Amino acid sequence: MSILPFSPPIQHDRPGADAELPIVALHQRVQDFDLSERARERDEELAFQTVLNVDAVLTGSFRDTLDPVVQAMAWTGYPPLEDNELMASAITHLGTVDGVRGWWLHYTRHPETVEHDDLVHVLTLIAPCVCGSYTEVELVDEDALIVLLDELDTPPGAPIACDPQLRIRRTSYADTRHANLEPPW
Ligand SMILES: [Zn+2]
Repeated sequence: MSILPFSPPIQHDRPGADAELPIVALHQRVQDFDLSERARERDEELAFQTVLNVDAVLTGSFRDTLDPVVQAMAWTGYPPLEDNELMASAITHLGTVDGVRGWWLHYTRHPETVEHDDLVHVLTLIAPCVCGSYTEVELVDEDALIVLLDELDTPPGAPIACDPQLRIRRTSYADTRHANLEPPW
């Protein structure tokens, strides 16, 4: 029995060789890529994923209140902003009674704490307030939303007090929009 030594097929470094060389194919592929197009596609994907996320949050955590009244299709997703310092978000309009200033829901995710970067869902109700601006309250859970709406003594959709002394408000994030007279979206 004879053993044949392994010998690779002879390769020629000739341009235009029959089989396309991987290094040539690789260059060709890289040439065809448009990085800004890829970034745009990634942003769109993140915005879409955020809409899916918030719909799941409503289904799972607000099943008797928001879930029946806000359709998944009603959300608009937004990509991350400012080099990913603000994560992707989604908003939906809850309606307006004066045709000018409306109520909104905003959704995004934040790292849980400075030490723990697990992401938590953050759902915020944005309401017109009497000064002409908007005020916002984070909705930590469905009970909080029920308490909030129950404590309001204004008609549904009407502007509320600028700094409503609501029990739920103590747990909310700082109100960053109150000075802005423009609609949030
Ligand atoms: Zn106000």
